[in-house]
Amino acid sequence: MKTVERLALLPSSPGTARHIALHRYGGGSGPKVYVQASLHANELPAMLVAQHLIDLLDDAEAAGRITGEVVVVPVANPIGLGQGVDGVHLGRYELATGQNFNRGFFDHAAALAERVKGRLGTDAAGNVGLIRREWAALVAERTPSSELASLRQHLMSRALAADIVLDLHSADDALMHLYFGAARWPDGADLSAELGSVATLLAVDSGGEPFDEVFGNIWAKLRALLGNDSPIPDAIMSATVECRGHADVSDELAAGDAQALLRFLMRRGVVAGDPGKLPAPRCDATPLDAVDILTAPVGGCLVYKVALGASVRDGDIIAEVVDPLAEDPSRRRTAIRTTTDGILYQRKLLRQVRPGQSCGKVAGTKPLPSRQGVLLEP
Ligand SMILES: [Zn+2]
Repeated sequence: MKTVERLALLPSSPGTARHIALHRYGGGSGPKVYVQASLHANELPAMLVAQHLIDLLDDAEAAGRITGEVVVVPVANPIGLGQGVDGVHLGRYELATGQNFNRGFFDHAAALAERVKGRLGTDAAGNVGLIRREWAALVAERTPSSELASLRQHLMSRALAADIVLDLHSADDALMHLYFGAARWPDGADLSAELGSVATLLAVDSGGEPFDEVFGNIWAKLRALLGNDSPIPDAIMSATVECRGHADVSDELAAGDAQALLRFLMRRGVVAGDPGKLPAPRCDATPLDAVDILTAPVGGCLVYKVALGASVRDGDIIAEVVDPLAEDPSRRRTAIRTTTDGILYQRKLLRQVRPGQSCGKVAGTKPLPSRQGVLLEP
């Protein structure tokens, strides 16, 4: 029986009230999956995919085909959904604090290690159960100091119970691509192939505590803190799914993505049914530190020379920045070249660019010396 749970956020000011809704299906013995959409609230393709997925799961539930448990949060960020300036929706950063909504999720590894130290045994599943219970207690014990902190607390409290966590986003002007925790690759190859990802980017720790990595990384952190005497498996597979670009808000695309997610759930024993043959993958997984993030050296008008999805070579011109005030013809255009061989999977949607702004991403195969430290954009 489907349930919808409403969780209220701590109001940011008197007279306001926001909440998130969780659609929960099943509850059987199969795996548990948690899916949320549009944590960056301006990334509407994700929200539309979640709507289509809810329709599919409603049908599956009515037909008694949910064999595990699925939780869908169709709007993961009502704070960002309500933000705008001069008619422009701004959903990546909280306007009140400047914080990126998909960073700063709470790392409980050290506190959790203290809680479970000396209590783990030889049974891996039992250890995972104990860790989840204590982790849930730690999250519940937090006293949120802001509306955003209460949002993070709610989302974490529900996602940490899952075996699979999928965080749906979109990315400027882009093709379907995934960020995936390296510890569970190639376990996620079916997800990547099913969605038709053109760039599946693996990282152990991108930095900044984005939502998906909190759930994928805590197991390795606990092993590092507690040693290997008791088994602690990588119990959560987590990924960020970039549902193309911000303007790709289309029922046709979203319905296709939702169908792909449903087939993935079938393959994982969460929903009963025949998913058919797994599509051929559109890419091999590649390291996140092999992604060349192109930046503009000067400001101006951005003109692309290469289409999304193109295979490019080290040294190729990807775009030019046009300075419309340059009087010297030789200075009117500044080329932006890639430094790797790979696939151009993301471009900038707005074509005005300032110096230092990123304006494209090429998924290469060889880690780049320039890609050290925090691997995600701010
Ligand atoms: Zn995002």
